[in-house]
Amino acid sequence: MRLLLVEDNVPLADELVGALNRQGYAVDWLADGRDAVHQGASEPYDLIVLDLGLPGLSGLDVLQKWRAEGLATPVLILTARGSWAERIEGLKAGADDYLTKPFHPEELQLRIQALLRRARGLANQPKLEAAGLHLDEGRQSVSRDGEDIQLTAAEFRLLRYFMLHPEQILSKSHLAEHLYDGENERDSNVIEVHVNHLRRKLGRAVVETRRGQGYRFGGTGG
Ligand code: CA
Repeated sequence: MRLLLVEDNVPLADELVGALNRQGYAVDWLADGRDAVHQGASEPYDLIVLDLGLPGLSGLDVLQKWRAEGLATPVLILTARGSWAERIEGLKAGADDYLTKPFHPEELQLRIQALLRRARGLANQPKLEAAGLHLDEGRQSVSRDGEDIQLTAAEFRLLRYFMLHPEQILSKSHLAEHLYDGENERDSNVIEVHVNHLRRKLGRAVVETRRGQGYRFGGTGG
């Protein structure tokens, strides 16, 4: 999953980018509200974390512009402690959730996981489940029938994307856009390598190849 972080506090942004990367998210970081309006609407983000106090344009204005343009990406706003007015304005402007600074990084992680599941219509799942597989996003491992199967970081990222989009045809370029940040070169052949590793670990049938179209996860199970 690929996230946009808009935060002008550089030490905090550094810390959050590091933590989110370790949790298997590709993250693009911006500090200016005007840049965020453009990039948030033009890149295919799965979720946006938006600070409200920003240079250039306030986070609230950024959010209002995105929603006016029809951008439906889940947005989690970061607000100042004690500012209930900010939280209310943010929710009215179309925020999906908020966190009050300072917050524990694990709380951000859990809220992001929940928002991503909710956005995919999977709000009823406390843990991701699909095709007989149970994904533990905290431990970055997967299990089937109670048996743990170890994953590399890259396999975990790919499997999480598949499990959030079961039975959908996903092209290699689509997967690359959602698994790598804007700084990384996107080589869609790498996707093929990781798909093959997942098949070796989880069974060939778990990811089907649709010739000329892409991959489809969880059609028949493993
Ligand atoms: Ca700020």
